[in-house]
Amino acid sequence: MPAPFSELLFRLANLVLAASALGIAALIVRAIHHRASQRVEPLGVVFALVFLGVGMRAAVRVWATPWTLPEGAAATLIAVDWLAAGATFTFLLLRRRYAVFIETAGLVREYETEYAQKEREAQALAQVNEELRRLDQLKSEFLAMVSHELRTPLTAIIGYSRLLTRQVHGPLTSKQLEHQEAIFRGAQRLSDLINDLLDVSRLEAGRVELNPRPTHVRHVVDQVITVVTVAAQAKQIRIENAVPSDLPLVQADPSRLQQILVNLVGNGVKFSSSAGLVRVTAGRQREQVWVAVEDRGVGIPKDELARIWDPFYQVEAPMQRRHGGSGLGLAIVRRLVELHGGVVRAESEGENRGSRFSFTLPAAPETPSTELLSPLEAAPVEPFLNGREVLIVEDEEQTRDLMRVVVEDVLGGVARVCDDGEQGIREAMDRVPSLILLDLMLPRVSGWEVARRLRQVPRTASVRIIAVSALSRSQEREAALHAGCDAYLTKPFTPDELARIVATTLQGQDVGSNR
Ligand code: ADP
Repeated sequence: MPAPFSELLFRLANLVLAASALGIAALIVRAIHHRASQRVEPLGVVFALVFLGVGMRAAVRVWATPWTLPEGAAATLIAVDWLAAGATFTFLLLRRRYAVFIETAGLVREYETEYAQKEREAQALAQVNEELRRLDQLKSEFLAMVSHELRTPLTAIIGYSRLLTRQVHGPLTSKQLEHQEAIFRGAQRLSDLINDLLDVSRLEAGRVELNPRPTHVRHVVDQVITVVTVAAQAKQIRIENAVPSDLPLVQADPSRLQQILVNLVGNGVKFSSSAGLVRVTAGRQREQVWVAVEDRGVGIPKDELARIWDPFYQVEAPMQRRHGGSGLGLAIVRRLVELHGGVVRAESEGENRGSRFSFTLPAAPETPSTELLSPLEAAPVEPFLNGREVLIVEDEEQTRDLMRVVVEDVLGGVARVCDDGEQGIREAMDRVPSLILLDLMLPRVSGWEVARRLRQVPRTASVRIIAVSALSRSQEREAALHAGCDAYLTKPFTPDELARIVATTLQGQDVGSNR
């Protein structure tokens, strides 16, 4: 090959190589610059430098290298340079295709980084969740403990004031009776507040279980009227049960339905002026039954209608309040109705134009049932024990004495008392009583353990045991029944409630409780 021609080929190859390599370096730098993540890509920088180096070297060879190579070596050099130039040029031409792969690789890397980031966030969230669960558990335990401590003294207050108003120990003057009533009502309000607080907390934590059965709304309304009748009579308010007697049964937990209606009818009475009327109506709507409580009382401004369902919310400002209450009733009503699969609604034409609260419940499946329920069927209390012996195991003195008075003075039994679990077991073994009233939180040996041990010994295996406790969570109740107790009574209780559960248990009927 003539020298000038070789030289031309050589310089041309280097020109193509320089232009292509510098072009690629520039493209890489631009690509790095335009990256979404704005991160410096070490590999990209290395490639850009390599192509820059190759391009610069080729550029220098185009202009500066004196053409001095011998003929044979020049041919090889030209061939190598053309190969390099060809490859670089082709790479430049096909860069769009490679760019897809490069972009994809970049995207994959970005996804990986993003995924790792999300994983870290998920771990942090899981930790927060765990912490929240722990705090929720603490809150429940705190509430359970506080309510236990509050219920215990309330048991004595409610129980004794009830005993006194029953005039068990002789007649009282009308003033004394009136004061006893006031004590009883005050204590009952405190007890209701504790129950409401526990209910809200359990409902919010999804820890309330329903026991739905075909239930007569009209019967439940009758029971509710007896519960709120004292408050209604005090204001001369008439409560009308206008639920049609042929209304289909609802599929509901009777005690919870009663709780819903006590709240709504109680509010109707509370927010009506004297000589008013509260009316309960109901009707069928396809697969649902609706129930409404109407009053002609103070009414509710329209812009408050949605908020009254929030816990603790009350329309009246705290300083101007004329009506008592905690603001928890409607929150409980809504959650209980929703737990049954129903919806609630509040309507009012405005202030002083009355209110209408309604809710729906599923109609019960059409199976004629013999066990229709009236949840608070109150059997009259008579001294039915006829000298039978009841062992009372209770460490709290006032509650122990109250139970003794109910057993002896109301039920006509003979009470034996002791204040710790171990002594309770000994007493029961020595002389087996007809019934044991057993506190659960006892010193030395707990009530659960007492029940378990008594059940293991043939002599006491079939003695009737009623757990009486201020612990009100379902797990404590279930643990007591599992340990061998026949029934569970929650403190505070009224003498009538204690008397009724004793009667039911001794008749060997169903397990019952006051709540
Ligand atoms: P509480 O009755 O203890 O205040 P509720 O949750 O039952 O709590 O009711 C929340 C608020 O809704 C009440 O404070 C009252 O302002 C309003 N409210 C409820 N029922 C009625 C009613 N029948 N008439 C007028 N206002 C009512």
